[in-house]
Amino acid sequence: MAGYIKVIAGEMFSGKSTELARLVERALIAGLPVQVLVPAFSHRGSVRDVDGRLAALPGQWSIVPVPDGAAERLDQLVDPGALVLAVDEAQFFDAHLVDYCRRWRAEGRQVLVAGLDMDYREQPFGAMGELMCIANEVVKVHAVCTRCRQADAFISHRLSDESVQVVVGEHNYTALCCDCYQAETARGAKPGRDPSRWDTLEATP
Ligand SMILES: [Zn+2]
Repeated sequence: MAGYIKVIAGEMFSGKSTELARLVERALIAGLPVQVLVPAFSHRGSVRDVDGRLAALPGQWSIVPVPDGAAERLDQLVDPGALVLAVDEAQFFDAHLVDYCRRWRAEGRQVLVAGLDMDYREQPFGAMGELMCIANEVVKVHAVCTRCRQADAFISHRLSDESVQVVVGEHNYTALCCDCYQAETARGAKPGRDPSRWDTLEATP
């Protein structure tokens, strides 16, 4: 089997983990041994989602929590027999992940990587930028903007006031398109994810 790296990138609520689960399911149906790698401190639903979607499927697969996203430990954690390696929440892994993905591809494995492309400040998140560069294929998936409810979203807009890069919890973010992000950033509004609140703020002069 020819090695391959596919990156699925996008903002929160864009369906990255769902797409990853679909690709894993496809591999399992073909009888390929799969290992799913997730950072152990990720509290998002993605691990459970992947688990729940795949639990009923036949085939060899396992989920490996990687403590603190420390990719340097992957030597001990990755099954040499796994022909498909699926990495979820890749933005939380350290930079060693890039070299591991290259190595796995050179070994002839299929590498599937899902993660946030940008943090809430429009900066590349973790090693995602490099991973997108070295990938054979990059797919960007998008949520619908929760403010205008028309355009594709492009960023996870933080609703809380913390300024550190990582604040875990879906309730702390909403997906916005470029225009709405500019508008909200300029205004500094934190309206929450309830769409009815956007209209209220819209009407405020
Ligand atoms: Zn919008």
